[in-house]
Amino acid sequence: MGEPSPQLVDEVVGRFFDQGIEVVVGIGGGSVLDAAKAIAGLLPHGNTVLDHLEDVGKGLPYSGPSLPFIAVPTTAGTGSEATKNAVLSLHGSDGYKKSFRHDSLVAHTAIIDPLLLEGCPSELIAAQGMDAFTQLLESFVSLRANPLTDALAWSGLQAVSEGFLAAYAGGDGHEARRGRAAMAYAALLSGITLAQVGLGSVHGLAQPLGSLFPVPHGAACGTTVAAATAVNIQALRQREAQNPALNKYAQVGRLLSDRQGLDEAAACDALVEVLNRWTDSMQLPSLSRFGVAEKDIPAIVAASRNNSMKTNPVQLSDEEVAAIVRQRL
Ligand SMILES: [Zn+2]
Repeated sequence: MGEPSPQLVDEVVGRFFDQGIEVVVGIGGGSVLDAAKAIAGLLPHGNTVLDHLEDVGKGLPYSGPSLPFIAVPTTAGTGSEATKNAVLSLHGSDGYKKSFRHDSLVAHTAIIDPLLLEGCPSELIAAQGMDAFTQLLESFVSLRANPLTDALAWSGLQAVSEGFLAAYAGGDGHEARRGRAAMAYAALLSGITLAQVGLGSVHGLAQPLGSLFPVPHGAACGTTVAAATAVNIQALRQREAQNPALNKYAQVGRLLSDRQGLDEAAACDALVEVLNRWTDSMQLPSLSRFGVAEKDIPAIVAASRNNSMKTNPVQLSDEEVAAIVRQRL
């Protein structure tokens, strides 16, 4: 249950270190895949994951090898089946969400089968789908975006546009099945693109929201992406009107609103409109439901200046980051 902790990984590694395990299979959502990925990485070595955990660990270099890891996602969201890091969390006031990261941790095989999404509850389809969408959008406008990742991100965004609402509506009809297949594909692509070019302010914020408060990753992304996109667009208009991210936001706005003729400004507004509509219609939870209050905003903003924030298309002020959180309290 919940997001994996370093203790969980260490316990499993300790139990199976000398048992001759040859392969690790992770079947589940992003938390399960991340736990399995870290366990596969450490089983040949038997040491604690805290030796290698970014920022909070001992900083010892990890050089592999990992056991072969087979990733079988049963949600369409995190894209963990395509990334080289396992996110581990410690909850509470001194909590953190940090990665164990290495090229050799990438799954040996990923089995992407939309049939596995059939039992997934609609609120998970919503939050996880918003995470996959956010990962695609943030990679698309990332400061490190390149034509190859743009092509993959765009293909994923098209799949979200075609399949998200049908997947959320659920059932076993043709549309719902096609929707789930589209979202499984989109989630996989989002993992590929984020691993190449990074993310943005939504994921910058998701880290403290998930460690200081019990906000699940998908909910953190899903509930803030509309507000964060609006803030990015406003900041770009004010300070960097020539930044190519504005044109990219407009392309996504035309895609999601299905209004091809919109000019850049109207298309950016249409993107925010669609995201606000999704947030409302899929009932993404407000942050106050997880105990976040106005007084917590400075600590959240201070802890949001991580790697993801560094590839946000425009540098945001503390006030702008605070405004994103405040809108979703
Ligand atoms: Zn994410």
